[in-house]
Amino acid sequence: MLVIFGTKVIGKTLRSGTFVCPRCNMERTYLLKQNKKYFSVFFIPLIPLNNVGDTLECTFCKTAYVPNASFLGNTYTSSTADIDSLSKPLAAVGKRLGAYIIDMIFLIILNFPLAFVVKYLPDLFHNKFYLVFFPVWVIYFFIMELFFKGTIGKKLLAIQTVSDDDEKPITAVRYLLRGFVKAIPLINVVLLFNDKHKGFHDFVAGTIVVEK
Ligand SMILES: [Zn+2]
Repeated sequence: MLVIFGTKVIGKTLRSGTFVCPRCNMERTYLLKQNKKYFSVFFIPLIPLNNVGDTLECTFCKTAYVPNASFLGNTYTSSTADIDSLSKPLAAVGKRLGAYIIDMIFLIILNFPLAFVVKYLPDLFHNKFYLVFFPVWVIYFFIMELFFKGTIGKKLLAIQTVSDDDEKPITAVRYLLRGFVKAIPLINVVLLFNDKHKGFHDFVAGTIVVEK
């Protein structure tokens, strides 16, 4: 199979210095690298996505270590510090997409009885069916997240929405805003481009999605 699209990790050197390489067992030069994932086409990195963790590389034996205080002292803060400190791991992007697709299948099936109901509504709704189903989608996301702590798709894939700030629980208003933005198609691709994988709906609601 010809692979056209993919991802590629590229390391950018943040700084260099010397350390005692555990493998060489002597003082060597290191390169501290910030690794970023790129969306690539024909192996050419085109669009920067999220940071995937730093590495400290011995320039002699090429061994890559996880940078820490024993190598670098207290002068180092990881590029992914804000995700490393989370109490539960972020939900994989594939799982979130899967949950979204499951929910959309459910909502599209729900359109059939709605189409029947529309016949009994004023003429305006006949030509503008989205005026009927869009609010239903928003209400679905809102009610499921608020009362059941997750949509059907999220439940099936064992992921959940939590507040990005542990101090501030998610209010009903934030869930409602989140549902509204989430119902707008395609807008949430933005989640691929930031470390916490926040979709546009996560930014407006101050939420992140994590594994259960
Ligand atoms: Zn070495």
